[in-house]
Parts: sequence; C-alpha cells; structure tokens
Amino acid sequence: MSAELLDGKAIANEIKQELGKEVAKFIEDTSVVPCLAAVLVGEDPASQVYVRNKQRACERVGIDSQLHRLPAETTQAELLDLVDQLNASSEVHGILVQLPLPGHIDATKVLDAIDPAKDVDAFHPDNVGRIAQGRPRFLPCTPHGVQQILHRSNIPVSGQHVVVVGRSDIVGKPLAMMLVQRDSTLGSAAANATVTVCHSRSKELSSITREADILVAAVGQPKLITADMVKPGAAVIDVGINRTDEGLVGDVDFDDVREVAGHLTPVPGGVGPLTIAMLLRNTLTAAATQNDAR
Ligand code: NAD
Repeated sequence: MSAELLDGKAIANEIKQELGKEVAKFIEDTSVVPCLAAVLVGEDPASQVYVRNKQRACERVGIDSQLHRLPAETTQAELLDLVDQLNASSEVHGILVQLPLPGHIDATKVLDAIDPAKDVDAFHPDNVGRIAQGRPRFLPCTPHGVQQILHRSNIPVSGQHVVVVGRSDIVGKPLAMMLVQRDSTLGSAAANATVTVCHSRSKELSSITREADILVAAVGQPKLITADMVKPGAAVIDVGINRTDEGLVGDVDFDDVREVAGHLTPVPGGVGPLTIAMLLRNTLTAAATQNDAR
C-alpha cells in the first residue's frame, strides 16, 4: 500500500483564495485594511525567511504588513516599548513577534505583553485559556493548519484516536486541546477525538503510536517515526521541520511510513504552508473584531 499524500500547499492556496475574497469584502464594507505587524529581532536566517514568507502571503490576500527589524542587541525594555506602541496603534490589528528571541530577552514576558486582541499567534495565556475552554478568540496557526488539512481531506476526527507526539505550547498541547473539544470552527466532526499526548519521557512510544488512527508528529527529530510505529491505514501528519544534510526533512521517515500509512503529509509542502494561511485568517479576524469594537 502507498499512502495518499496530503498536499498542504494546494490546501493552503485554496484557503488563501477564500481569504482574499473575504479581505476584499471586509475592506469594501469597512474601509479598513487589515494589518499585521511583524517584529524581528536579530539576524537569524531561518527567522528572516519565515517573516519574509509571511509578509508575501499577506500581500497576496490584500492584508497590509509592517516589518519592525531590531538589532540583536535590542534590550528587553526597548522591545516591550515597541510592543506597547503596536498595541496602541489603531492601524495595526495583529502583532507577531518572531521566535526565537535572543537569549537575553525573556520571550514569555514579551509575548505576555501583546494585547490578547492582537495576539494572532494565540500564545497569550488569555487566548490559551480560551482555547482550553472551547471558546477561542484565535486558533493557534500550526494546530489550526493540522485541523484544516484533516477536514479538507475528508479525514474524520470525531471518535478517532489521535496520538500527538510532542507537548510544546506552540503545537502539541494546543492541538490536543482543540481536537478533544466537543465542537470546532469546522464543526463537531473535526473535533471530539480521543487524544493521547506523548513526549520525551513517554515509555514504549511505538506501542502508543501504533494505536493511533491519526498520528501527529511535532518533535523536531528527523525521521523519528518509522513504519513499525504506524497502524496500517492511519493518517500521519508530520509537523516537524528539520534542516539536515539531505535538506528539509520531517519527523516522519517519509519513504518508510508511506508504505503503511493511509494518508501522509510531505515535508516540505505539508503543514508548513497551512501555518501561514491560518496566520492570515487570524489577522482578518483581529481586524474584524477590533472594527466591531470601535
Ligand atoms: P519543541 O522543541 O518545543 O517540543 C518538542 C517536543 O517533542 C517536546 O514536547 C518533547 O517532549 C518531545 N520530544 C522530544 N524528543 C522526543 C522523543 N524522542 N519522543 C517523544 N517525544 C519527544 O518543538 P515544537 O516547537 O513543537 O516543534 C516541533 C517540530 O515542529 C520542530 O521540528 C519545528 O521546527 C516544527 N514546527 C513546524 C511548524 C510548521 O509550520 N510546520 C510550526 C512549528 C513547529
């Protein structure tokens, strides 16, 4: 058997087309142009690429973007000052501080300083709490991308056993919280999963992953998930992005797992493009909510 590949790029393009129309209608109705402000501290090459891609994506759907580039030696106080200015600006609807930040800056302090109404990454505790309670303001971009891939590929989640490998605050934990809810923005079929979360201390990982109808790998270890860890016919979603001598590879051993899985996302071209599309969705939501509150 060879898995059906889930084309994240095509799904993201479909979403961006829908968003482009929604953004145009929003601007026509309100004369407000949604705007995302990205903050980049230092010269990390991967971060520069991510921010550039996000800005290009904004442009494609008609969202304005600002880039605030700060030198690596920027102090925490200076960065917090900029966040305050962006919080106060009526022109800016979404704020994104690109991670990682230089070691001398406390990232949690900076992320906590972002106005929750402009927190389009959904990292603020207020937004995380809302997700936990099933009443989100924004959905975190990568977990939302995973949910969209499953939904748009007609892979039901309700009643299925989802195993998430990785418990980060950015991917693993919020994804588990979203999929276990009674309902979702995509309807109840895209939620109501039985969710198991595995991590670095989990014992006998493969015996747990083999139980998964849907297996999500968000670890950051190249090719950790091999065919013997996958139930035949399972949907395998690879969130990992690892730079290796072979180029970009996921957390899933693609060639091996492809022979057993029913569905599989490639890396690159799987979850990555969805993450950006969902950031655009959140920026439009932020603009609409702030406009309603005026
Ligand atoms: P993280 O480093 O914050 O967390 C990794 C998690 O993996 C931890 O919870 C840890 O307990 C777990 N883990 C480590 N080794 C393990 C093992 N041997 N077995 C089981 N669990 C183990 O990572 P993150 O920020 O969630 O990112 C994970 C991966 O996803 C990275 O490769 C990252 O680049 C990628 N990522 C991709 C996107 C995207 O848009 N596609 C977005 C965010 C992160």
